[in-house]
Order: sequence, then structure tokens, then C-alpha cells
Amino acid sequence: MSDRVIAPADADERRAIKPLVCYEVDSLPNVDSAFYEQARESLTLVSTTVVAPRDANTFVVPEGHFFRIKSVEGSQVGDLNLWNQHDLSERFFSGKTRQLHATHVTRGDRLWSSIPSLRAMATITHDTLEWYGYDQHGAGVHDVIGTRCDPYTNYMLKGEDYHHCCHSNLSRALATYLNKPVQEVELHIHDVMNVFMCTGFTLDTHQYFMKASPVRPGDYIEFFAEMDLLGALSACPGGNCGSSHSDDATPCYPLHVDILKPADEVLSSWKKAPANGYSRTHGIS
Ligand SMILES: [Zn+2]
Repeated sequence: MSDRVIAPADADERRAIKPLVCYEVDSLPNVDSAFYEQARESLTLVSTTVVAPRDANTFVVPEGHFFRIKSVEGSQVGDLNLWNQHDLSERFFSGKTRQLHATHVTRGDRLWSSIPSLRAMATITHDTLEWYGYDQHGAGVHDVIGTRCDPYTNYMLKGEDYHHCCHSNLSRALATYLNKPVQEVELHIHDVMNVFMCTGFTLDTHQYFMKASPVRPGDYIEFFAEMDLLGALSACPGGNCGSSHSDDATPCYPLHVDILKPADEVLSSWKKAPANGYSRTHGIS
């Protein structure tokens, strides 16, 4: 008996079924663009965190403040982790953000937090690369489909230790911030938002690909903190991710994170999102 799988007679008909966007995204909590635009007009710089090449750093953003991730010196990709500053179990939920928005995020999209809180952690309020859209290869910028480069996958593929993958960089930065052993805190490191990274899935085999980022010094992506945030950003060893990663072969550049504060009166109408309203009984009474 052959194990060849034969397409059924109605294969084409089944394939022709019209796709349906999974979620009724129009029902998401409203993004009040007028509020964010007004708040942006009164921003003052509070501090700048420097992220060294092939390394990571942490930063804290009080709720109601903005943060900007900026390209400086050269084209460089960053791997971003975000937590509720007061409860690290609430962290950025890359998969749900992708399902609610798209494979790549830009102005007007939000970064959603993990279950059970599942609420907006940050709103993207400006993106100098929003002109890029999706190119002829199907690639876009600011990816929420890939995850961080990590030393475990690298070891599996190459059989060697490399200590400056984004996962390790983020782990060391968080260990320093929390003053705890790196093996303990690495469990808090989660799937990232790949800031400035240009990626997609190949059109024929649907494999994850990367290409040189269009980011240039002066470009930035800006977020509004919807809660007190702890962030960690790694300047990926892949540099602009145009050739390799998980090694020291590619030129790498620093990234800056600016924390900016709007005028107090602007925030009078702003309300923090409550934790998700689901009862959490999961059907057990
Ligand atoms: Zn990386």
C-alpha cells in the first residue's frame, strides 16, 4: 500500500474558501489618536538609556510617559521585552499582538500583555519607518513573528557556545536590574518585538526570513506607556540582520531609548486599562 496522499476531488474548492480575519478588531478598546498627538506636543526628555552593541540594557517607563527607541550611528535591529514593572508575570504577549494586529506593527497598534491580564501595555504613537509597508518579498518592519536569537538554538545548530545572542543579552541585563542569578531570571525573557527588523515568510515555502533593515540613524519608533513598564532592549548581534546573527561577524551599533514626559495636564483625561474582566473560572463553578 502506498502512503502517497492524494488530493480529494474538491481540493481546489476547499482551497478557494475565502479567508476570514480571526478577530473583530473593530471592537478593541479605542485608540484615541487625538489624545496621543496632543500629548506628544508637550514632551520633555527625562533620560536616555544607551544599549551597547551585542549587549542589552533595562529601562523603566512610568505610566503616562513615552519612550522612543532610536537608531544612532548605524543600521541596527533591537529585541524588546516589556514587563509590568510591579509584576513580571505580566509581560508582552507577542503571539496575541500578532493575532490582533498583524505580523508587523506600526503606529496605532498596541503591545498586549500576557494572560490573565491581557490588556494594552504600550501604544505605538510614532514610527518613522511606517512608509515601508510590505515589500515585494512580503517583508515588513517591526516584526512580532520571530523570536529572539538565543544560545540554545545556536548550540543545536552549530554545537558551540555564543554568549551575545539577544536572549543572553536580555538575561544579563535583567539579572543586573533584579540583582539575581542569570539562570533564574532568564525564565522571564519572552518572545520579543523585533524593533526595526525586516522580516517575512518566503512566498513558496513560508520559511521565516530576514533582510537588511531599512532603518537609518535618526529613525525611531515611539510608544506611550499604558502602565508602569520595565523594558529590556538588546542590540542584536545580527546588526541590521542583512547577513548573519548569533556571531561576531556583522557590524553592530548602539541603540538609544529616550524616556519622555508629557505636560501633567495632558494626562488628566487618561485612564489606565484595568486587568482583563474574564471571571477566570474556566467553566468550573
Ligand atoms: Zn538577536
